[in-house]
Amino acid sequence: MSHTDLGLATDLSGQVALVTGASQGLGKACAERLAECKAHVVCAARSVDKLQATVEGIVAAGGSAEVVACDVGSKESIAEVFANIEAKHQRLDILLNNAGITRDTLLPRMSDEQWEDVIQTNLTSCFLCCRAASRIMMGARYGRIINMASVSGLIGNPGQTNYSASKAGMIGLTRSLSRELGKRKITVNAIAPGFIESDMTKALGDDILKEVKKRIPANRLGHPDDVAAVAVFLASPAASYITGQVITVDGGMTV
Ligand code: NAP
Repeated sequence: MSHTDLGLATDLSGQVALVTGASQGLGKACAERLAECKAHVVCAARSVDKLQATVEGIVAAGGSAEVVACDVGSKESIAEVFANIEAKHQRLDILLNNAGITRDTLLPRMSDEQWEDVIQTNLTSCFLCCRAASRIMMGARYGRIINMASVSGLIGNPGQTNYSASKAGMIGLTRSLSRELGKRKITVNAIAPGFIESDMTKALGDDILKEVKKRIPANRLGHPDDVAAVAVFLASPAASYITGQVITVDGGMTV
């Protein structure tokens, strides 16, 4: 599916979006689609070269975006990103917490480091970014926070106790924060993708993916744009009465 098939009609002109993990995969697709709807997209990740390619693609397509080097595993790096956004744009309308990692292994073999890396990168970063963004958004009395969770956080997955815990944590954070910020016209939602084509799922290998496909009623892995379409909707004015929700995008796998 190419992005031109999505038929996105949302107008996000004048809005600033921060997308973490925009250097590839789901984050890149979300950044491209938000820019297609005329948001200015701040693209954050560690790989500056890949981010540069994302931004060049967006600009070539007529959009507006910028590269921001950020390690979401570092409190200081996140603080710097938000300080720069405030100084440069004086606003943040949309936050997409998408950066994430897996360190899969069965629990008895899981090292402290594998646990801590995943919780830090996936969950603690979500807390830090949500806190920084909510301070800006509360002043503006408007905002859209979208957290990229996973079906793993809903139904679990063997070998992913660390990852599932981080994603379930993001879902709990989403629900509680939506209750705190609802009155200020700030919505907070999560997306729970199933198996989507990306480097993260490629790492599972062909045999596992073949078995996975059998469990998906749609009979295919998702495309990053399947997820980006939902992110754009949740970021749009049309979704103003939707908050605290987890939208599953999994081809029917968890029905
Ligand atoms: P991916 O291809 O591995 O991309 C991960 C992204 O996160 C990259 O842009 C990476 O950029 C960034 N990232 C990782 N660690 C970071 C750090 N410390 N600081 C800043 N950025 C960091 O994964 P994906 O499949 O697109 O997944 C994106 C999100 O969707 C993740 O949160 C993942 O858990 C979730 N998800 C994916 C699937 C799926 O099937 N693919 C399913 C459910 C949920 P750098 O390496 O350049 O920093």
